[in-house]
Amino acid sequence: MYNHRDRGGRSSKSELMGGPFDRKRINDALDKHLGKLSPSISRGLNNSKEKERSSVPSTSTGKPQLDHRDSRSAPLSKAQCSDVESETDSEESDVSGSDGDDTSWISWFCNLRGNEFFCEVDDDYVQDDFNLCGLSHQVPYYDYALYLILDIESSHGDMFTEEQNEMVESAAEMLYGLIHVRYILTTKGMSAMLEKYKSYDFGRCPRVCCTGQPCLPVGQSDIPRSSTVKIYCPKCEDIYYPRSKYQGNIDGAYFGTTFPHLFLMTYGHLKPHKPTQNYIPRVFGFKIHKP
Ligand SMILES: [Zn+2]
Repeated sequence: MYNHRDRGGRSSKSELMGGPFDRKRINDALDKHLGKLSPSISRGLNNSKEKERSSVPSTSTGKPQLDHRDSRSAPLSKAQCSDVESETDSEESDVSGSDGDDTSWISWFCNLRGNEFFCEVDDDYVQDDFNLCGLSHQVPYYDYALYLILDIESSHGDMFTEEQNEMVESAAEMLYGLIHVRYILTTKGMSAMLEKYKSYDFGRCPRVCCTGQPCLPVGQSDIPRSSTVKIYCPKCEDIYYPRSKYQGNIDGAYFGTTFPHLFLMTYGHLKPHKPTQNYIPRVFGFKIHKP
């Protein structure tokens, strides 16, 4: 039997899925696995990683962006791993997991720290094979990951090693993300995201002239593992890093390049007017002359 509710002693670690350390370690393992699976996929991943790397210095303004993908090529040694684990375990012991018996994997996952941008995908949507078309080739351990998401009891947890179980968890996260990006473009998914938007779950625009405009999540690419999620401000029509480093580690492909724009076309009344004022730099009160 393998189930997120039955992880027992490991629960504190699995709650850290949202944490950068654990995520990095699992992604390292997953990368190794993906590399073994298909050389073409891993080559594609490497390319996109390079792209992301080269684009970072131009977009980040001196503030180092914590991105697990940058250090993927240097997996932690076993000893380092246990150091990191024990460190984070004590650090994050305040995280309270919802281990109630009636909690589905989906609600559990969406309530993890850093996963605030995800809405809960309807079980019916996940159960419809048509909606999952093409995903079995993209996600390793596909069947097990799907069982985990749907809370279907399976005995594979007993046969798998600890590392394999962690990869199934990581695969479930990836599979959920790839289902999520499709779901939020449906009527039901969009209305679920509307509720989150209304409660400012995606944060507000950091730009002063946007006066706290609520934002929407967006990806810069629809290809998994090419860049992390950003927030899009409908007022200044620009994108920003999420405030939380946990949210900043989420894959942008789980939200996609289309979502915020289709959302604002669907709910046209939510599209704010362009900002009326712009910031004007002044020296001793005088506007700076532009040649
Ligand atoms: Zn803005």
